[in-house]
Amino acid sequence: MFKYTTIAFLLFAAVSCKKETVTPTPPAPVPPKPKVAVFTLLDGAGNCNPIQVEGVYKTGVPMNAANKIILKINVTMAGSYSISVPGTNGYGFFVKDSLTTTGEQLITLPAIGGAPVYGTINTFNISTQGNTCTFAISVEGGELPGVLDDNDHMYFGNPGNAAINLDSVNNFLMRKPYYALSYSRDRGIPNWVCWHLYPADLGGISRQEDFREDNTLPASWYRVTPASYSGSGFDKGHNTPSGDRTSTVDANSSTFLMTNIIPQASTNNQIVWSRLEDSLRRLVTLGYEVYTIMGHYGIGGTGSSGFATTIDAGRVTVPASIWKVAVVLPNGNSDSSRVNSGTRVIAVDVPNTNSLGLNWKTYRVSVDNIEAATGYDLLTRLPATLQADLEARVDNL
Ligand code: MN
Ligand code: MN
Repeated sequence: MFKYTTIAFLLFAAVSCKKETVTPTPPAPVPPKPKVAVFTLLDGAGNCNPIQVEGVYKTGVPMNAANKIILKINVTMAGSYSISVPGTNGYGFFVKDSLTTTGEQLITLPAIGGAPVYGTINTFNISTQGNTCTFAISVEGGELPGVLDDNDHMYFGNPGNAAINLDSVNNFLMRKPYYALSYSRDRGIPNWVCWHLYPADLGGISRQEDFREDNTLPASWYRVTPASYSGSGFDKGHNTPSGDRTSTVDANSSTFLMTNIIPQASTNNQIVWSRLEDSLRRLVTLGYEVYTIMGHYGIGGTGSSGFATTIDAGRVTVPASIWKVAVVLPNGNSDSSRVNSGTRVIAVDVPNTNSLGLNWKTYRVSVDNIEAATGYDLLTRLPATLQADLEARVDNL
Protein backbone atom coordinates (compact mmCIF):
# COMPACT_ATOMS: atom_id res chain seq x y z
CA MET A 1 0.00 0.00 0.00
CA PHE A 2 2.62 2.48 1.10
CA LYS A 3 4.80 1.79 -1.90
CA TYR A 4 1.98 2.44 -4.39
CA THR A 5 1.03 5.67 -2.70
CA THR A 6 4.57 6.93 -2.94
CA ILE A 7 4.84 6.09 -6.62
CA ALA A 8 1.50 7.74 -7.29
CA PHE A 9 2.71 10.84 -5.59
CA LEU A 10 5.95 10.92 -7.52
CA LEU A 11 4.02 10.53 -10.81
CA PHE A 12 1.72 13.32 -9.85
CA ALA A 13 4.66 15.51 -8.94
CA ALA A 14 6.38 14.75 -12.25
CA VAL A 15 3.25 15.58 -14.20
CA SER A 16 2.81 18.78 -12.28
CA CYS A 17 6.32 19.77 -13.16
CA LYS A 18 5.84 19.07 -16.77
CA LYS A 19 2.72 21.14 -16.79
CA GLU A 20 4.75 24.15 -15.64
CA THR A 21 4.79 26.60 -18.51
CA VAL A 22 6.83 29.46 -17.02
CA THR A 23 10.31 29.53 -18.45
CA PRO A 24 12.66 29.00 -15.58
CA THR A 25 14.65 32.15 -14.95
CA PRO A 26 18.37 31.58 -15.16
CA PRO A 27 20.04 31.89 -11.78
CA ALA A 28 21.05 35.45 -11.07
CA PRO A 29 24.79 35.90 -11.47
CA VAL A 30 26.39 35.82 -8.06
CA PRO A 31 27.97 39.24 -7.57
CA PRO A 32 31.68 38.98 -6.97
CA LYS A 33 32.36 39.09 -3.28
CA PRO A 34 33.56 42.64 -2.55
CA LYS A 35 37.16 42.82 -1.59
CA VAL A 36 37.94 44.06 1.83
CA ALA A 37 40.03 47.18 1.64
CA VAL A 38 43.49 47.21 3.13
CA PHE A 39 44.67 50.48 4.63
CA THR A 40 46.49 52.06 7.51
CA LEU A 41 45.65 55.15 9.52
CA LEU A 42 48.13 57.60 8.13
CA ASP A 43 49.69 58.15 11.49
CA GLY A 44 48.60 55.34 13.75
CA ALA A 45 51.18 56.12 16.40
CA GLY A 46 48.60 56.74 19.03
CA ASN A 47 47.46 60.14 17.88
CA CYS A 48 45.32 59.73 14.74
CA ASN A 49 47.13 62.53 12.95
CA PRO A 50 45.64 64.19 11.06
CA ILE A 51 42.23 63.95 12.58
CA GLN A 52 39.58 66.59 12.27
CA VAL A 53 36.69 66.79 14.67
CA GLU A 54 33.70 68.60 13.19
CA GLY A 55 30.48 69.85 14.68
CA VAL A 56 29.59 71.03 18.12
CA TYR A 57 29.60 68.67 21.08
CA LYS A 58 27.43 70.37 23.60
CA THR A 59 25.63 69.21 26.67
CA GLY A 60 22.07 68.22 25.84
CA VAL A 61 22.47 68.69 22.08
CA PRO A 62 21.96 65.43 20.16
CA MET A 63 24.35 64.41 17.39
CA ASN A 64 23.47 65.65 13.91
CA ALA A 65 24.93 65.53 10.41
CA ALA A 66 27.56 68.11 11.31
CA ASN A 67 29.06 65.87 13.98
CA LYS A 68 31.79 63.78 12.36
CA ILE A 69 35.46 63.01 12.40
CA ILE A 70 37.75 62.94 9.38
CA LEU A 71 40.70 60.57 9.23
CA LYS A 72 43.54 60.35 6.76
CA ILE A 73 44.35 56.83 5.66
CA ASN A 74 46.72 55.17 3.21
CA VAL A 75 44.94 52.55 1.10
CA THR A 76 46.98 49.71 -0.38
CA MET A 77 44.00 47.75 -1.71
CA ALA A 78 40.59 49.14 -2.64
CA GLY A 79 37.45 47.47 -1.33
CA SER A 80 34.84 47.68 1.35
CA TYR A 81 35.51 48.69 4.92
CA SER A 82 33.80 49.57 8.12
CA ILE A 83 35.12 51.32 11.20
CA SER A 84 33.29 51.48 14.46
CA VAL A 85 34.55 53.78 17.20
CA PRO A 86 32.87 52.59 20.38
CA GLY A 87 30.60 55.05 22.10
CA THR A 88 31.61 57.13 25.08
CA ASN A 89 29.19 59.32 27.02
CA GLY A 90 26.27 58.38 24.78
CA TYR A 91 27.78 58.79 21.31
CA GLY A 92 30.32 57.16 19.00
CA PHE A 93 31.36 57.11 15.34
CA PHE A 94 30.64 54.61 12.61
CA VAL A 95 31.23 54.26 8.87
CA LYS A 96 30.55 51.45 6.40
CA ASP A 97 31.58 52.27 2.86
CA SER A 98 34.01 51.30 0.13
CA LEU A 99 37.28 52.69 -1.11
CA THR A 100 37.68 52.79 -4.90
CA THR A 101 41.23 54.02 -5.18
CA THR A 102 44.50 53.37 -3.43
CA GLY A 103 46.80 55.91 -1.87
CA GLU A 104 46.32 58.58 0.75
CA GLN A 105 42.79 59.84 1.24
CA LEU A 106 40.35 61.20 3.77
CA ILE A 107 37.44 59.25 5.16
CA THR A 108 34.57 60.56 7.24
CA LEU A 109 32.96 58.87 10.22
CA PRO A 110 29.60 60.38 11.21
CA ALA A 111 28.72 60.52 14.87
CA ILE A 112 25.90 58.31 16.06
CA GLY A 113 24.08 58.37 19.34
CA GLY A 114 22.54 60.90 21.65
CA ALA A 115 23.49 64.08 23.41
CA PRO A 116 26.62 64.20 25.56
CA VAL A 117 26.35 64.88 29.25
CA TYR A 118 27.59 68.09 30.82
CA GLY A 119 31.09 68.33 32.08
CA THR A 120 33.18 65.77 30.30
CA ILE A 121 36.16 65.26 28.08
CA ASN A 122 35.35 62.18 26.04
CA THR A 123 38.16 59.88 25.01
CA PHE A 124 37.74 57.59 22.00
CA ASN A 125 39.83 54.76 20.64
CA ILE A 126 39.96 53.93 16.95
CA SER A 127 41.13 50.43 16.27
CA THR A 128 41.35 49.15 12.72
CA GLN A 129 43.48 46.66 10.85
CA GLY A 130 46.20 46.65 13.41
CA ASN A 131 46.30 50.41 13.96
CA THR A 132 44.97 51.99 17.08
CA CYS A 133 44.85 55.57 18.15
CA THR A 134 43.13 57.75 20.70
CA PHE A 135 41.55 61.15 20.49
CA ALA A 136 39.56 63.36 22.83
CA ILE A 137 36.55 65.59 22.36
CA SER A 138 35.76 68.34 24.80
CA VAL A 139 32.06 68.70 25.46
CA GLU A 140 31.12 72.36 25.45
CA GLY A 141 28.74 73.96 27.84
CA GLY A 142 31.45 74.73 30.38
CA GLU A 143 29.39 77.31 32.17
CA LEU A 144 27.39 75.88 35.01
CA PRO A 145 23.63 75.79 34.70
CA GLY A 146 22.19 79.10 35.89
CA VAL A 147 20.69 77.65 39.01
CA LEU A 148 22.13 74.56 40.60
CA ASP A 149 19.75 72.04 42.09
CA ASP A 150 19.49 71.35 45.78
CA ASN A 151 22.25 69.01 46.94
CA ASP A 152 24.46 69.76 43.92
CA HIS A 153 28.07 69.50 45.12
CA MET A 154 28.73 73.01 43.78
CA TYR A 155 25.51 74.45 45.17
CA PHE A 156 27.19 77.32 47.05
CA GLY A 157 29.49 78.39 44.23
CA ASN A 158 32.38 77.77 41.87
CA PRO A 159 35.42 79.40 43.50
CA GLY A 160 37.77 80.88 40.91
CA ASN A 161 35.29 80.06 38.13
CA ALA A 162 36.79 76.72 37.16
CA ALA A 163 35.93 75.88 33.55
CA ILE A 164 35.39 72.77 31.48
CA ASN A 165 37.77 73.91 28.84
CA LEU A 166 40.97 72.24 27.63
CA ASP A 167 42.75 75.60 27.78
CA SER A 168 41.90 75.99 31.45
CA VAL A 169 44.74 73.66 32.38
CA ASN A 170 45.21 74.84 35.95
CA ASN A 171 41.59 75.54 36.80
CA PHE A 172 39.86 72.68 35.06
CA LEU A 173 36.37 71.88 36.28
CA MET A 174 35.48 68.21 36.77
CA ARG A 175 31.91 67.49 37.82
CA LYS A 176 31.70 63.91 39.01
CA PRO A 177 28.77 61.97 40.39
CA TYR A 178 30.10 61.98 43.95
CA TYR A 179 31.96 65.34 44.11
CA ALA A 180 33.18 68.20 41.94
CA LEU A 181 36.63 69.74 41.72
CA SER A 182 38.92 72.26 40.10
CA TYR A 183 42.09 70.50 38.89
CA SER A 184 45.54 71.89 38.26
CA ARG A 185 47.44 69.97 35.59
CA ASP A 186 50.77 71.58 36.46
CA ARG A 187 50.44 71.08 40.21
CA GLY A 188 49.02 67.55 39.85
CA ILE A 189 46.42 68.18 42.56
CA PRO A 190 42.91 69.61 42.82
CA ASN A 191 42.75 73.32 43.72
CA TRP A 192 39.58 72.54 45.64
CA VAL A 193 37.04 69.76 45.91
CA CYS A 194 33.45 70.21 47.04
CA TRP A 195 30.77 67.75 47.94
CA HIS A 196 27.37 67.46 49.53
CA LEU A 197 26.83 65.00 52.37
CA TYR A 198 23.52 63.76 53.71
CA PRO A 199 22.16 60.56 55.22
CA ALA A 200 21.76 58.76 51.86
CA ASP A 201 25.55 58.93 51.39
CA LEU A 202 26.23 56.88 54.51
CA GLY A 203 25.98 53.09 54.39
CA GLY A 204 27.99 50.03 55.23
CA ILE A 205 30.48 49.90 52.38
CA SER A 206 34.09 49.53 53.50
CA ARG A 207 37.12 51.39 52.15
CA GLN A 208 37.90 50.17 48.65
CA GLU A 209 41.55 51.34 48.82
CA ASP A 210 41.70 51.37 45.03
CA PHE A 211 43.85 54.47 44.60
CA ARG A 212 44.28 54.98 40.87
CA GLU A 213 44.90 57.53 38.15
CA ASP A 214 41.92 59.46 36.87
CA ASN A 215 41.52 58.43 33.24
CA THR A 216 38.87 61.07 32.60
CA LEU A 217 41.59 63.73 32.51
CA PRO A 218 42.42 65.02 29.02
CA ALA A 219 44.49 62.35 27.29
CA SER A 220 47.65 64.43 26.87
CA TRP A 221 47.87 65.47 30.53
CA TYR A 222 50.18 63.87 33.07
CA ARG A 223 48.21 61.51 35.28
CA VAL A 224 49.24 61.25 38.89
CA THR A 225 49.30 57.66 40.16
CA PRO A 226 49.54 56.18 43.66
CA ALA A 227 53.25 55.58 42.93
CA SER A 228 53.70 59.34 42.62
CA TYR A 229 53.40 59.44 46.44
CA SER A 230 55.60 56.42 47.21
CA GLY A 231 58.38 57.24 49.64
CA SER A 232 57.41 60.92 49.67
CA GLY A 233 56.74 61.14 53.39
CA PHE A 234 53.20 62.37 52.68
CA ASP A 235 49.89 60.54 52.87
CA LYS A 236 47.62 60.24 49.89
CA GLY A 237 45.16 62.60 51.57
CA HIS A 238 41.54 62.47 50.48
CA ASN A 239 39.57 65.62 49.86
CA THR A 240 36.13 63.99 49.66
CA PRO A 241 36.63 61.42 52.43
CA SER A 242 36.18 57.73 51.86
CA GLY A 243 33.98 57.78 54.97
CA ASP A 244 31.55 60.22 53.36
CA ARG A 245 30.86 57.83 50.49
CA THR A 246 29.83 54.49 51.93
CA SER A 247 26.46 53.95 50.24
CA THR A 248 27.80 51.90 47.31
CA VAL A 249 31.10 50.41 46.13
CA ASP A 250 31.03 52.85 43.21
CA ALA A 251 30.62 55.85 45.47
CA ASN A 252 33.42 54.78 47.79
CA SER A 253 35.75 53.80 44.96
CA SER A 254 35.31 57.22 43.36
CA THR A 255 37.05 58.87 46.31
CA PHE A 256 40.26 56.96 45.51
CA LEU A 257 40.79 58.70 42.17
CA MET A 258 44.06 60.62 42.38
CA THR A 259 42.29 63.82 41.29
CA ASN A 260 40.68 63.76 44.76
CA ILE A 261 44.04 63.43 46.55
CA ILE A 262 46.70 65.83 47.87
CA PRO A 263 50.02 65.20 49.66
CA GLN A 264 49.08 65.59 53.31
CA ALA A 265 51.32 65.25 56.36
CA SER A 266 50.18 62.21 58.31
CA THR A 267 49.27 64.01 61.56
CA ASN A 268 47.27 66.53 59.59
CA ASN A 269 45.51 63.76 57.66
CA GLN A 270 45.13 60.94 60.14
CA ILE A 271 44.37 62.91 63.28
CA VAL A 272 43.22 66.51 62.84
CA TRP A 273 41.51 66.04 59.50
CA SER A 274 40.11 62.64 60.31
CA ARG A 275 38.52 63.95 63.52
CA LEU A 276 37.02 66.91 61.71
CA GLU A 277 35.56 64.54 59.10
CA ASP A 278 34.13 62.35 61.87
CA SER A 279 32.54 65.39 63.51
CA LEU A 280 30.83 66.44 60.29
CA ARG A 281 29.56 62.92 59.64
CA ARG A 282 28.21 62.82 63.18
CA LEU A 283 26.19 65.94 62.41
CA VAL A 284 24.68 64.11 59.45
CA THR A 285 23.65 61.18 61.63
CA LEU A 286 22.00 63.77 63.92
CA GLY A 287 19.78 65.02 61.09
CA TYR A 288 21.89 67.58 59.24
CA GLU A 289 23.19 67.87 55.71
CA VAL A 290 26.61 69.39 55.05
CA TYR A 291 28.05 71.19 52.03
CA THR A 292 31.85 71.14 52.21
CA ILE A 293 34.54 72.73 50.15
CA MET A 294 38.15 71.79 50.80
CA GLY A 295 41.25 73.40 49.36
CA HIS A 296 44.72 74.60 50.19
CA TYR A 297 47.14 77.45 49.64
CA GLY A 298 50.88 78.07 49.68
CA ILE A 299 53.66 75.74 48.67
CA GLY A 300 55.66 73.36 50.84
CA GLY A 301 54.73 71.07 53.69
CA THR A 302 56.62 68.91 56.17
CA GLY A 303 55.96 65.20 56.11
CA SER A 304 57.80 62.27 57.66
CA SER A 305 60.75 62.77 55.30
CA GLY A 306 61.03 66.48 56.01
CA PHE A 307 60.11 69.61 54.13
CA ALA A 308 59.18 69.37 50.45
CA THR A 309 57.66 71.74 47.93
CA THR A 310 56.91 68.98 45.43
CA ILE A 311 56.98 65.19 45.08
CA ASP A 312 57.03 62.87 42.04
CA ALA A 313 59.97 64.74 40.45
CA GLY A 314 58.17 68.06 40.64
CA ARG A 315 54.90 66.86 39.17
CA VAL A 316 52.88 67.07 42.38
CA THR A 317 52.89 70.23 44.50
CA VAL A 318 52.82 69.94 48.28
CA PRO A 319 50.50 72.59 49.74
CA ALA A 320 51.52 74.61 52.80
CA SER A 321 48.11 74.91 54.41
CA ILE A 322 44.88 72.95 54.03
CA TRP A 323 41.45 74.43 54.67
CA LYS A 324 37.84 73.41 54.74
CA VAL A 325 34.56 75.32 54.83
CA ALA A 326 31.39 73.43 55.79
CA VAL A 327 27.85 74.78 55.70
CA VAL A 328 25.60 72.81 58.06
CA LEU A 329 21.82 72.76 57.57
CA PRO A 330 19.02 70.67 59.00
CA ASN A 331 18.43 68.01 56.35
CA GLY A 332 15.74 69.31 54.01
CA ASN A 333 14.91 71.03 50.74
CA SER A 334 15.31 74.48 49.16
CA ASP A 335 18.63 74.72 50.93
CA SER A 336 19.72 78.23 49.94
CA SER A 337 16.48 79.71 51.24
CA ARG A 338 17.07 78.06 54.60
CA VAL A 339 20.48 79.64 55.17
CA ASN A 340 20.21 82.55 57.60
CA SER A 341 22.36 84.46 60.07
CA GLY A 342 22.06 81.56 62.49
CA THR A 343 23.42 78.95 60.08
CA ARG A 344 26.49 77.12 61.30
CA VAL A 345 29.48 77.54 59.01
CA ILE A 346 32.65 75.75 60.11
CA ALA A 347 35.93 76.92 58.59
CA VAL A 348 39.34 75.51 59.50
CA ASP A 349 42.87 76.20 58.25
CA VAL A 350 45.55 73.68 59.23
CA PRO A 351 49.28 73.78 58.39
CA ASN A 352 50.48 70.80 56.34
CA THR A 353 52.88 69.45 58.94
CA ASN A 354 53.10 66.80 61.64
CA SER A 355 53.72 69.27 64.47
CA LEU A 356 50.10 69.97 65.25
CA GLY A 357 47.72 70.15 68.14
CA LEU A 358 45.31 67.29 67.81
CA ASN A 359 42.02 69.17 68.23
CA TRP A 360 40.63 70.50 64.97
CA LYS A 361 38.65 73.14 66.84
CA THR A 362 41.84 75.04 67.64
CA TYR A 363 42.30 75.60 63.90
CA ARG A 364 39.00 77.33 63.30
CA VAL A 365 39.08 80.60 61.36
CA SER A 366 36.56 82.75 59.52
CA VAL A 367 35.64 82.20 55.90
CA ASP A 368 36.98 85.71 55.33
CA ASN A 369 40.41 84.51 56.51
CA ILE A 370 40.34 81.74 53.90
CA GLU A 371 39.12 84.08 51.18
CA ALA A 372 42.01 86.45 52.00
CA ALA A 373 44.58 83.64 51.93
CA THR A 374 43.34 82.07 48.68
CA GLY A 375 41.88 84.97 46.71
CA TYR A 376 38.68 82.96 46.26
CA ASP A 377 35.20 84.28 46.87
CA LEU A 378 33.36 81.47 48.65
CA LEU A 379 29.63 80.91 49.23
CA THR A 380 28.71 83.16 46.29
CA ARG A 381 25.26 81.59 46.11
CA LEU A 382 24.27 83.58 49.20
CA PRO A 383 23.04 87.20 49.12
CA ALA A 384 25.91 89.65 49.77
CA THR A 385 24.82 90.80 53.23
CA LEU A 386 24.22 87.28 54.50
CA GLN A 387 27.49 86.16 52.93
CA ALA A 388 29.39 88.97 54.66
CA ASP A 389 27.74 88.19 57.99
CA LEU A 390 28.42 84.46 57.96
CA GLU A 391 31.91 84.80 56.51
CA ALA A 392 33.13 87.16 59.23
CA ARG A 393 32.35 84.72 62.04
CA VAL A 394 34.39 81.94 63.59
CA ASP A 395 32.48 78.85 64.64
CA ASN A 396 32.61 78.34 68.41
CA LEU A 397 30.22 75.45 69.12
MN1 MN B 1 19.14 69.56 50.93
MN1 MN C 1 32.24 84.88 49.85
